[in-house]
Amino acid sequence: MRNRNLALILSYLHQNSPISRAELSSQLGINKASISTTVRELIMQGIVIEIGMKTGVQEVGHPSIDLMINPDSGRVIAIDLGSDRITAVVTDVAPNILWRKEVSIKGAVDIIEILSITQKIIDESCTIARSYNLPILGLGLSLPGILDIESNTLLAAFELGWRDVNLNPLMLGNEDIHLYTGNVAHMGAQGESYFGAPLNTCSALYINWGLEVSGGIIINENVVPGGLGLAGEIGHFSIDPHGELCACGNRGCWNTFANEESIFERIKTDIENGKTSRIQELTKGQIEKISMRLVMQSAFQGDSVALEALNVAGKWLGVGIANYINILNPELIVIGGPISQAYNFVISSIEEEINQRALPWQRKGCHIKPAHFRQDASLIGAVATVIWNMFNNPVERIKKANHS
Ligand SMILES: [Zn+2]
Repeated sequence: MRNRNLALILSYLHQNSPISRAELSSQLGINKASISTTVRELIMQGIVIEIGMKTGVQEVGHPSIDLMINPDSGRVIAIDLGSDRITAVVTDVAPNILWRKEVSIKGAVDIIEILSITQKIIDESCTIARSYNLPILGLGLSLPGILDIESNTLLAAFELGWRDVNLNPLMLGNEDIHLYTGNVAHMGAQGESYFGAPLNTCSALYINWGLEVSGGIIINENVVPGGLGLAGEIGHFSIDPHGELCACGNRGCWNTFANEESIFERIKTDIENGKTSRIQELTKGQIEKISMRLVMQSAFQGDSVALEALNVAGKWLGVGIANYINILNPELIVIGGPISQAYNFVISSIEEEINQRALPWQRKGCHIKPAHFRQDASLIGAVATVIWNMFNNPVERIKKANHS
């Protein structure tokens, strides 16, 4: 009960600060004595701070002081391994981004080189985080693929061609900092529900639209892990039994119609068939150097080939989403990840397909919106994952971080 109250109070403070003890008590339905005891403990630990006197809402005999999360109660490191770049941030607990670095891995030849680049950026992030002389609450690492988060093993990242990669050696020299690994969509869902638009719904689906289409299913504000923590591999839903070969080995997975590679392939085919595109100039004729960044740049400049490729991917995204609306009856679908930058270009195609295919009652009760953090959703999700773990066992973890 004590830990449950701690987690509830901290998460509520994060989304509703500044707020008084009395308001916390009435909003959370926890009695005032328990709130007082728990808040005293959190203040002593430096996790929560008191600020000013609240004007207007003053209880008789008890000046009402507001409470908020202390952003300087620690530092968080988050790393997102994407298809063409690694992004790292150091944040406070608010979470304000205090330092950010992106490194391209577009020219990296193999997994050894990518892991070596990842380790270097982890080293640098840890050095930056240590320079604040504050507790480091952990390092969240978001990856595209199927993960065993207990052993920090990437079981498979089909699009990268990786299998059974132990990620613990990435922390060599920084073993005192706790590593939290997670799938890009699970972390995106965690970030959106904690810091983005709060998913105050019974049922929501977060879709990471990028290298793969993957999902984080949210029920009652919690990301559903599934039996082995592997739920949400929605991109491998079979759409066409005789379709293109998916990187997973199956044919006709949803991914093959709507992921990043499918967009690149459509653009390459259009160019081979004689259409002209700004992407030819941007890649200096080396179309194999196509990236999502160049597709977006071209789309913003009105390039018809880029816009059409995004539009077709959007239609296929809508086809798959319609299936999930019928299966899960979600109240909300949130689209994040690298291709979500194109949300405004594709939302009408997505909705057109959904309106045609989803059952009308389920469709009526479902809203679709872009992720609050768009392409940074999984990065902020990695921050949220670290903080979520602190919230669920805050005092012990803060103590541990302080002694590290
Ligand atoms: Zn597949």
